[in-house]
Amino acid sequence: MSFDYIAQANQSRKAQQLWRQPQALQSGAGRFVEHNGKRLINFSSNDYLGLAQDPQVISALNTGAAQYGVGSGGSPLVTGYQRPHQQLERMLCQWLGFERCILFSSGFAANNAVIQALFSDGLSKLTAKHESKLLIQDKLIHASLIDAATSNNVKAKRFVHNDINSLQQRLSAPSEHKLVATEGVFSMDGDMAPLGQISELCQQHQAWLMVDDAHGIGVLGQDGAGSLSLTKETQPSVQGQVHMATFGKAIGTHGAFVGGSSEFIEYLIQHARHYIYSTALPAALAVATMKSIELIRKQSQRRDQLNHLIGYFKTKMNTLGLSDNGSVSAIQPIIIGSAEKALTISQTLKLQGIWLSAIRPPTVAANTSRLRVTLTSQHQTEDIDLLFRHLEGLL
Ligand SMILES: *Cc1c(COP(=O)(O)O)cnc(C)c1O
Repeated sequence: MSFDYIAQANQSRKAQQLWRQPQALQSGAGRFVEHNGKRLINFSSNDYLGLAQDPQVISALNTGAAQYGVGSGGSPLVTGYQRPHQQLERMLCQWLGFERCILFSSGFAANNAVIQALFSDGLSKLTAKHESKLLIQDKLIHASLIDAATSNNVKAKRFVHNDINSLQQRLSAPSEHKLVATEGVFSMDGDMAPLGQISELCQQHQAWLMVDDAHGIGVLGQDGAGSLSLTKETQPSVQGQVHMATFGKAIGTHGAFVGGSSEFIEYLIQHARHYIYSTALPAALAVATMKSIELIRKQSQRRDQLNHLIGYFKTKMNTLGLSDNGSVSAIQPIIIGSAEKALTISQTLKLQGIWLSAIRPPTVAANTSRLRVTLTSQHQTEDIDLLFRHLEGLL
């Protein structure tokens, strides 16, 4: 019978304590969430600066919708590309310092588009042969980039997480066109890539560097310009040829961009299938995203408050003797080990008024199930106190 393995696959996930189910909240994901009529403190939001619910950003979305409608009405090369898209692109170029950029409906689509456009053989007679290209990714790279490689049958290698020697080994392969892909801040561990060293190695080997800065944009560097900008403060020669980030995290809206040289972005406009064959991001979202970026640049107090909370959280971790992986970002994992235990703790915390998701395989490696705490500028130190008070009895 067709697909008769489905029931068995589901059963096996359940048996391993790896069953996942979306939980419908009765609120947005701010400092608090409402679930089953109960208010819980939320430690699982990527809205690091509280912009998803900011009145000015909401009002910008409304204004944009009133002027341009809700849907964009078409793909970008037909009628879906409107004035706010162009303004947002220009704003991103000016803020982040690349020549040109292109918008996508999601970060997942952006990553897949970039890899497909650079590595797929079927594009054009002009593009280099498959065999002469190599994609080199950090072992802990995001699922969207792993899938981009596998679904496009890309010749890809991984290097040991953040390990420069391992990367150097990979780079010594004879391929003519090499792309190194890593994240500014890693999504499950919160640690940062040594972008300065990685960029230097890439330059030595004439490889391109792609930085997925989903968790760095908005929160790191002066102006919130992200991981590359932060690295540039101490190493001006750092260079990323492909700069990608989502609007769905610290920027608090939706969609994503890829920035780079004019030549590269124009190539993407010709070849990126996720751009060409998909309805454009609504213009209203571009309007809201511009407002959000304006606030990010203007209101450094949001980043200051977040950094204050991160410091406070780490002090608490150390006081309790919990192992600290060195993360100084908003992502602070508490490693539990077994999926079952992580899930039990998460469920117990929920009864105590705390929303903290357990992250289990296959999202993270076996036996590294964790409580992935994310802090946002909306939290108060008393929220963190409460979390640790409850955690103490559970670990
Ligand atoms: C969230 C995330 C993405 C995907 O972005 P979306 O806009 O949510 O599709 C890509 N890369 C990393 C590292 C992420 O954390």
